Amino acid sequence: MALLSWGNYPNIDVIAYKFENRQALKNIINQHNNIIASGNGRSYGDSALNKHQIDVKSYNYFLDFDQNTGILHCQAGVLLSEILETFIPKGWFVSVTPGTKLITVGGAIASDVHGKNHHVKGSFSDSIVEFTMMLENGEIIICSHSINPDIFQATCGGMGLTGIIIDAKIKFLPINSSMIDQLTIKTKNLQDTFEAFEQYKDYTYSVAWIDCMAKGDSLGRCLLMVGEHADDGNLDYVNTNKISIPFQFPSFVLNNLTVKSFNSLYYAKVRQAVSQQKIGIDSFFYPLDAIGNWNRIYGKNGFTQYQFVLPLEKSYEGLEQILSKIAASGKGSFLAVLKLFGKANANWLSFPIQGYTLALDFKIEPGLFELLNELDKIVLKYEGRFYLSKDVRVSKQTFEAGYKDIDKFRQLRKQYKMDQKFHSLQSKRVGI
Ligand SMILES: Cc1cc2nc3c(=O)[nH]c(=O)nc-3n(C[C@H](O)[C@H](O)[C@H](O)COP(=O)(O)OP(=O)(O)OC[C@H]3O[C@@H](n4cnc5c(N)ncnc54)[C@H](O)[C@@H]3O)c2cc1C
Repeated sequence: MALLSWGNYPNIDVIAYKFENRQALKNIINQHNNIIASGNGRSYGDSALNKHQIDVKSYNYFLDFDQNTGILHCQAGVLLSEILETFIPKGWFVSVTPGTKLITVGGAIASDVHGKNHHVKGSFSDSIVEFTMMLENGEIIICSHSINPDIFQATCGGMGLTGIIIDAKIKFLPINSSMIDQLTIKTKNLQDTFEAFEQYKDYTYSVAWIDCMAKGDSLGRCLLMVGEHADDGNLDYVNTNKISIPFQFPSFVLNNLTVKSFNSLYYAKVRQAVSQQKIGIDSFFYPLDAIGNWNRIYGKNGFTQYQFVLPLEKSYEGLEQILSKIAASGKGSFLAVLKLFGKANANWLSFPIQGYTLALDFKIEPGLFELLNELDKIVLKYEGRFYLSKDVRVSKQTFEAGYKDIDKFRQLRKQYKMDQKFHSLQSKRVGI
């Protein structure tokens, strides 16, 4: 069976094994020495790809919910979308959510995903009370900040390389509305964008769409969206209607011109410097989920997302250089998202550090990887790092330069013989 990641690149044949109970999972683990967990395939690169894969998605029951504490106990294959459908009407929301709700709880922990509120709430693992996982020898352990803390810190952000997460207890956020009060701020250039982030930094949620085709005086112009949960007592929640992209677009559809036109129109449609909207949770957090299979617009060669973070004090200079290089290259991205991270947590491979993170989608085409190699140099010059959940190409040296705890991670893998069992195409490429 051919299984693709969200970026549809690379395209490899895999055999996926499902399980219904712990014994069945143990049997699969026993029988394979080169295997990796997969969730809902929303990572862009090759972190969940290997010839043999443990498909956790169908291990997906809610186990318990404590209405007093707001703690859900569920199996690792449960999707965030299933959590939201059940719990928003009851007045609860996940504390941290990425830009898609179509991911599993196991995938959220393994990537230690971040949302638009990292500066306030940290990463997904910061809302995890504990999780249960199966190790390489079939042993089942509980991990939390106080129980097996080393395995907890390695597993959150550890991209499935420490074992299989089988269930988790997650602490929810109480809400009193399924709506978000949003402000949209239109900026003229990068300086203006940084000032806007600073001015609106007390908002819980913030994210900027950057026009990465803009040059010169307009370099770094953006629409910054900030928001708070509304307080109107309306907890109605309907899954947004989906339209779907039925087939892979021919690859010429997305080109320099179409991206440039889209970006100009998108920027121009907002007229006021600051405007106010009240919008649904789905529109605010998951605009792309409304279009099923939107990854097909990039064509059959696929695409990649390039996401890095730069330390706060170096972010402006680094971003200016990177955006200039992208604008000059003519290789456009209509999805270019800038966020501000708060302080890093203690997990060894979690991506966020305090500073600005930029994520850009690029169609796979000749010359792209050469451009990205050039951008890598700038990221490293400014002491930044790359996000494994999006990555499909960084070298071992480039990856290692950003993660000072990588040797601890390797040592733990060795100690528990995880390195004799769990591998992905990515782990082999970056040497972990
Ligand atoms: C539109 C879109 C927007 C996104 N926005 C964001 C964002 O804002 N912030 C962010 O952080 N990420 C974002 N992502 C990335 C996504 O949240 C992560 O890649 C997430 O890990 C995907 O989860 P999944 O269930 O699809 O797992 P997969 O993609 O299948 O796997 C991801 C990783 O988790 C491991 N894994 C999965 N399940 C388990 C398990 N049970 N036990 C152990 N390891 C496991 C896999 O081995 C792999 O390394 C976005 C992705 C998309 C498509």
